[in-house]
Amino acid sequence: MTIAQKTFGQPKASPEVLLDTLFRPMGVDGVYGRTGRYEGVVEALAALISRHREPQAEILRFPPVVSRALIEKSGYLKSFPHLLGCVCSLSGSEREIGAAVDRFAAGQEWTDALSTGDLVLAPAACYPIYPMAAAAGPVPADGLMFDVASDCFRREPSRDIDRFQSFRMREYVFIGAPAQVQAFRERWMTRATGIADALGLSYRVETASDPFFGRGGVLVGKAQVQQELKFELVVPVRSAEQPTACMSFNYHRDHFGLTWNMRNSAGEPAHTGCVAFGMDRLAVALFATHGVEVAQWPASVRAVLQL
Ligand code: 5GP
Ligand code: ZN
Repeated sequence: MTIAQKTFGQPKASPEVLLDTLFRPMGVDGVYGRTGRYEGVVEALAALISRHREPQAEILRFPPVVSRALIEKSGYLKSFPHLLGCVCSLSGSEREIGAAVDRFAAGQEWTDALSTGDLVLAPAACYPIYPMAAAAGPVPADGLMFDVASDCFRREPSRDIDRFQSFRMREYVFIGAPAQVQAFRERWMTRATGIADALGLSYRVETASDPFFGRGGVLVGKAQVQQELKFELVVPVRSAEQPTACMSFNYHRDHFGLTWNMRNSAGEPAHTGCVAFGMDRLAVALFATHGVEVAQWPASVRAVLQL
């Protein structure tokens, strides 16, 4: 279901031009060095999103790694095991580690000596906030709001300009009663279309689903669409026919409330929701829409980004 649309046009700059101008290859698909021209726009976008922050939001910035136990308990392995990246390292005695290094030096396989540790790469920015909020005691009547961000990793190598394995995500998160979470999400969907308008982007806001794993996941995804648990703001980046999700508006119902025993003073499980900004996708969408010369972008767009 589409709930908002703004003149859906073809992108101006091709993926090849975007890749050449904005990024430097690092030898792995979907992992890039970023040029100053590109980072300037990412920073301007981050500042624009900050200017829209609601005053009660508490700011937290997370590292690109998260406790493996936290992600396991969050249900990530049930939903997206195919996307998770785990941190592994050489552990053991000096002799064991030395033997692995010697195998490498001799041109042999050494990676079988790696062992999985207690860290995974963050798959989204908001996972760590729920146990933190739960540990702080009952959720207050007005709810809790957070501004979080982290580098995220999803194991989906691709040469597409809109699919990175390593990308930056910024989120506003709300924890509270069902009606409060839904009001938060609706408020942000309106605000986000305002931001997209100001940025001169073409977009649609439509119901969406997450890429749940396996055959069973297809059904979960369909239910998610039916229940309108996820909306996405999509922008033509590679093409107008296959637009790219640049923001998402998610309602988790009581999933994290029950997982982390996060309750209000009456003992009812908290509901949660988040609005996620794909910082890299938004920046790429701006370059795709307005071209690679920032100086030639519409004056109104440069003004809103203070560029
Ligand atoms: P979600 O949790 O809704 O899948 O992701 C939130 C946002 O992160 C997406 O709307 C998108 O903007 C960004 N994102 C998700 N996957 C990728 C990806 O593979 N590459 C990039 N550049 N951004 C992504
Ligand atoms: Zn989130």
